[in-house]
Amino acid sequence: MELLSEMQGIWSPGVFSLVPGQMYAIFAIPASGKKAGGGADGKIGGMPWDIVGHEGAVELLRRDISAGRVAHAYLFTGADGIGKRTLALQMAQAVNCEAPPAPGDPCGKCRACTLIAAEKHPDLFLLRPEGSGARILVDAAREVVHSVMLRPIEAARRIALLADFHRALPNAANALLKTIEEPPPSAILLLTAESADELLPTITSRCRVIPLRPLPESVIARALQERWKLPPERAEVLARLSGGRLGWVIHQAPWEEAEAGRGELFAQWLGILRGNRAARFATAQKAAEDREELRSAMQSWESFGHDLLLRTLSKDAEITNVDFIDQITELGERVTPGQARRWLAALRRAEEQIDRNANVKLALEAAFLDAPNG
Ligand SMILES: [Zn+2]
Repeated sequence: MELLSEMQGIWSPGVFSLVPGQMYAIFAIPASGKKAGGGADGKIGGMPWDIVGHEGAVELLRRDISAGRVAHAYLFTGADGIGKRTLALQMAQAVNCEAPPAPGDPCGKCRACTLIAAEKHPDLFLLRPEGSGARILVDAAREVVHSVMLRPIEAARRIALLADFHRALPNAANALLKTIEEPPPSAILLLTAESADELLPTITSRCRVIPLRPLPESVIARALQERWKLPPERAEVLARLSGGRLGWVIHQAPWEEAEAGRGELFAQWLGILRGNRAARFATAQKAAEDREELRSAMQSWESFGHDLLLRTLSKDAEITNVDFIDQITELGERVTPGQARRWLAALRRAEEQIDRNANVKLALEAAFLDAPNG
């Protein structure tokens, strides 16, 4: 079973993997700097909360609220863009809604619901690291912790939403510890993190942990068609690329711009395969100059490379970038699996070297010379 072992090799973590739910930017437009979570909701199939999927988590939270046993701290975990913040804000609404249509459900229309959705409620405090790679600093954490301790101004409960708390500096995490040990009854802390393991055990153990899993592609594709009115073909491509994270897809909007960026990256990737040595060096030079975009460009190129490898192994292999399927399939007929594997490994290696602060241009040049002739 040569083919099977080849396929397994591709998916081994050291080589390359596109794991559903793993942060994986494919488009040229980075998600950082855009509002996270707030737009990643969408009502489906009569669910009382305004969110796509995550039914189990919603049910659990509804039960806590309607039974009057809301914990004083919740931790929502899952990959970037999976819906943690959206769900946490919905919970804040459900807790403080002035006219719940049913126990544990937010109406979405009252003053409290509206202000919470707009992140402007006087009893809601948000803390999140700004920008990619940013950390949560101790002063900001202290301020939020102090605020949430005070009596609510108009809501039933004061709520602090501490997003991406795995990015808190150790002293910022410590600032939270005391509050989370002895919170006032009027306070609720909502934390989000990629995984519970990344937080201090003393914090995690005091939270009710709500793990969010990647949504099925079909659920995302349907939501994009029904709620965001995307044509079916486009919805399917985005769903395929999303790794089960609707928020990630929403951050790609405006779609046209995102698609243009993606088309450009594919053209560059193709250009490397088709170009001579000088052309490859020119592309390396150009890519090295735009460090901001380089990471997502590299990840896109690796994703295209991964698809190419799959197609050299089998004409029927399911690929990720289905919008470029014709070109990738055609290339797959001219390139051997060994060449495709070498090219993919070279891109991975260059990315690692760049992460370790190697000379970007040299790393890219070396990788691009390993590209097969397409
Ligand atoms: Zn309401």
